Amino acid sequence: MPPKRETIIKRARQRIERIRQTLSGIDTLCSGTLLQRTKVCGKSGCRCAEDVSARHGPYYEWGHMVDGKLVHRVVSPQQAALLQTAIDNYRHAQRLLREWETETEYLIDAEAPRKP
Ligand SMILES: [Zn+2]
Repeated sequence: MPPKRETIIKRARQRIERIRQTLSGIDTLCSGTLLQRTKVCGKSGCRCAEDVSARHGPYYEWGHMVDGKLVHRVVSPQQAALLQTAIDNYRHAQRLLREWETETEYLIDAEAPRKP
């Protein structure tokens, strides 16, 4: 026997409430990706030319979309740490929004079923 309409509605509302609570605990959000790079300086005699482990850096670069264009920005290691948290939060929030959408669809179908 499929679950009762009331049960479906109750479960969907509970899941939506949990999503809302989790989202309200998120404080920073950033889209995009963080890249870690090392560089070769090109100065003669510098070990970075031959030794990968002697390359300069790491340098951090944040890539994200602004008005439909990919923008890169160099950030400090401290900024990179904060950004990584914000990027992780963004991905988590996106996943929660997709779940919220799915639960809403269940709710709409249960609360207002389409007449045959
Ligand atoms: Zn060098």
